[in-house]
Amino acid sequence: MSNQARSTTMPSADFDAIIIGAGFGGMYMTHKLRDELGMSVQSYDKDGDIGGTWFSNRYPGILSDTESFYYCYSFDKELLQEWTWKNRYVNQEEILEYLEHFADRYEIRKSYQFDTKVTSAIFNEITNLWDIETNKGDKVTAQHLVTGLGLLSATNIPNFKGRETFKGQQFHTANWPHEGVDFSGKRVGVIGTGSTGTQFITSTAPLAGHLTVFQRSPQYTVPIGNGPISEEFSNDIKANYDASWKQIKGSMVAFGFEESTVPAAGLPVEETDKVFEAAWQSGGGFRFMFETFSDIAVDAGANEAACTFIRKKISEIVNDPETAEKLKPYDLYAKRPLCDSGYYATYNRDNVTLVDVKAHPIIEITPKGVLTEEGEHELDILVYATGFDSVDGNYTKIDIRGRDGLQMKDKWEHAPTSYVGVASSGFPNFHMILGPNGPFTNLPPSIEVQVEWISDLIKDMRDKGQATAEPTQEAETGWTTTCKDIADATLFSKAESWIFGTNIPGRESSVQFYLAGLGSYTDVLNEEAASGYKNFTFKLTSEL
Ligand code: FAD
Ligand code: NAP
Repeated sequence: MSNQARSTTMPSADFDAIIIGAGFGGMYMTHKLRDELGMSVQSYDKDGDIGGTWFSNRYPGILSDTESFYYCYSFDKELLQEWTWKNRYVNQEEILEYLEHFADRYEIRKSYQFDTKVTSAIFNEITNLWDIETNKGDKVTAQHLVTGLGLLSATNIPNFKGRETFKGQQFHTANWPHEGVDFSGKRVGVIGTGSTGTQFITSTAPLAGHLTVFQRSPQYTVPIGNGPISEEFSNDIKANYDASWKQIKGSMVAFGFEESTVPAAGLPVEETDKVFEAAWQSGGGFRFMFETFSDIAVDAGANEAACTFIRKKISEIVNDPETAEKLKPYDLYAKRPLCDSGYYATYNRDNVTLVDVKAHPIIEITPKGVLTEEGEHELDILVYATGFDSVDGNYTKIDIRGRDGLQMKDKWEHAPTSYVGVASSGFPNFHMILGPNGPFTNLPPSIEVQVEWISDLIKDMRDKGQATAEPTQEAETGWTTTCKDIADATLFSKAESWIFGTNIPGRESSVQFYLAGLGSYTDVLNEEAASGYKNFTFKLTSEL
């Protein structure tokens, strides 16, 4: 244990709180509880250092698609002023550098034990504490358990037959070797064309001998418009941070732009195309979907206008008509929006081959490469850009048990649920950062809102001498219905993607996000707190 101290509120506990995860969420929570509330905290991460997503994803081309100056913490005004971003969009190295700076600034690492996986977390109904165990043999107790396990963290590697027989090198993009991979002169294959795949493909094509892309679903993607930030622009951003963060926290997707209020439905194509063209030139995936028109994510006609525009662009960019056709999606534009640095043009390169594995599925991985129904593709390196077991993937890997021995993975057998994205009925003092049915946004602002709300709840409990807090089942069921109703009113629920869990074979579509935006989500959290947490039940320490 790196941080021996007894609990201040429950004397029999080793710690006030155990925090799992050293990404944006876990680190901020560690600072909040330890430094602001003066609590005793022990934090763990299974990785070797801080960073979370940005520690483990190091594939070529990796970039955040939130503008750098809004992909950060906003609570520390001094930090906002002293940190200067170099480019409009930020790569993994720079984000990790920023997170390391944050960790140093707040001496975050002294509360963490790294390379340590939490294997079980069991609520003890006799002591009213969490009993936590790790793969390093730690056995500790705490009043509160906070999980910052990441919603895009547990990897998804399809169970292709023969995967272990491949004689070359193979990697999942989220477990990328820190020393990098040498692609020069190599026959590289990549499965997956999501946000990760498109970035990897665009960056790796110029490095590889040959790149074979195994595409199951073509993607709508638009230019990112990345580039260096001038000093003047940076100063301007810094001077306006107060207003920008206010806007972000009251907005829908929290990406730092005003979402459009103008519907596309009913407008002539010349008018919609003019707006789409301007957005195409200025860059950004969320901007293209939400800043152009107000109804792309909810109206089929408006959505098709955007789809048709992008398909026209593919025809213009890609020289070979057959390849262009393979690259064109004909389904809804209703997954997480993508942006890129020349993705479609990459297919004009002589050393890139596009293989349609929807038309001719992968049969197996062989010692030499990938065998599809069309034949074998020989490879030296095979990359899985196949995404994540999103939202609950890391939760179900831990033996988490609440009251009456109920296991989280059983509770969530059909779909992960929560009350307002942060709490779970039957699991007292269990606080989730980015738990199921939280907001679907640029994530650092949502993380901040949740961490601050959880921290306020914990402080309130301490002030009132409350030992446990848990939401009612009724409130949780109501929240799930609210999230489902909102999702059903959008086109997102009609598309297959990790947002509804359908990227995992055999999994039914289920609502995993609150799609009404960060502003309205924060209102719900604030109302809950202002009501004295009316949807929670509490037990006083004096009643134990
Ligand atoms: P994470 O950063 O995922 O951290 C979770 C941590 O929990 C990990 O370090 C993990 O090791 C640890 N952990 C999990 N289980 C255990 C266990 N049992 N024991 C111990 N430790 C455990 N979001 C955006 O808003 N904008 C973007 O542009 C953007 N780009 C992205 C690009 C990529 C390639 C990926 C994969 C994600 C991107 N995201 C983006 C989402 C990103 O995950 C979040 O923005 C944010 O980094 C999440 O922070 P977090 O702290 O919640 O989780
Ligand atoms: P993803 O969006 O889930 O994409 C996975 C890809 O793998 C899809 O193309 C999928 O095809 C394919 N795939 C999965 N199983 C397959 C199989 N059995 N056979 C063939 N193909 C298969 O995952 P991701 O690209 O890693 O992105 C996940 C999320 O991470 C993003 O939506 C985003 O939130 C975040 N991210 C962000 C950025 C950024 O720019 N900021 C970059 C990377 C990741 P189907 O579509 O047919 O299922």
